[in-house]
Amino acid sequence: MDTTTEETFDLKARDDRFFRAAESVLKTYKITRRKTQKKDFVIFDITGGTHDYEVRIHPQWLHKPHCTCPDAAQRAKLNTRGYCKHIIAVLLSNEEFRYQLLEVFL
Ligand SMILES: [Zn+2]
Repeated sequence: MDTTTEETFDLKARDDRFFRAAESVLKTYKITRRKTQKKDFVIFDITGGTHDYEVRIHPQWLHKPHCTCPDAAQRAKLNTRGYCKHIIAVLLSNEEFRYQLLEVFL
């Protein structure tokens, strides 16, 4: 039995979030890019779900993408380096930032 205690990256958790990004966020939520940046970050508002959330992307990837949802702070933080379904949906739908998904594949 493998008993390593190194940081684990949960591939199933990642794939689940990709499915949820495609199924719920991209299909039914609305992703709106704000016209003005907040400091160095591009801000996206996620609306249409139970709660509204805010995703923050650094255009040069000097900082990780950030989301205000509880999953990003908790389970996604443990399993998928903080990439929740909202972040994944934002990155998928914005070609210029799509490369920032690399972090969950390396
Ligand atoms: Zn989120």
